[in-house]
Amino acid sequence: MRRHLLAALAVTKALQPHRLPPLGATRDVAASSLAVDEARDTHALPPIGPARDDAAMALALDEARAAAARGEVPVGAVVVDDTTGTIIARAGNAVEASHDATAHAELRAMRAAAQSVQNWRLQDATLYCTLEPCVVCLGAAYAFRIPKIVFGAPDHRLGAAGSWLSLHTETHPFHTLDVRGGVCAEESSKLLKDFFKERRRVGPRI
Ligand SMILES: [Zn+2]
Repeated sequence: MRRHLLAALAVTKALQPHRLPPLGATRDVAASSLAVDEARDTHALPPIGPARDDAAMALALDEARAAAARGEVPVGAVVVDDTTGTIIARAGNAVEASHDATAHAELRAMRAAAQSVQNWRLQDATLYCTLEPCVVCLGAAYAFRIPKIVFGAPDHRLGAAGSWLSLHTETHPFHTLDVRGGVCAEESSKLLKDFFKERRRVGPRI
């Protein structure tokens, strides 16, 4: 049984080891970007409601700023235990560092949360993300059984919660997903605008 499990895990390993840049500051940044910034915070957020949404989104915005500092599109996410109000996991975008177009903050945070609680069913948790989730992340929220998503700014290009697609309003056979958008939207949007403005100024990659 254990052998089968190990074999299954081995499949997920890349054929080539991830090659970091030469020693130095660039390499440090690349390495730290790959780490999922997970935390099981002991301090509880306010009770469920707008105050909790604001407090959790402030933490997600911190993750977005940290992502920008690593040269990633500034999007952050946190997963909060609805019952206790504690933070199960937090993460920022890592698309550039991991060369993975789906290494979005939301997906990384949900994966880290499932690892943290050792259960892929996140049935009593809320996903907070600074940007409207894409179709991959929203689909993953269904897979992780997340019952509620709170997001900040709309994503007119890839958003699957009303902007491009409306996946969240589709009837699902057994799962409902409550979605609230527009929390700290201006701050989230400004982070993105500033990031792309700077990137246009210095070139296609920073
Ligand atoms: Zn996504």
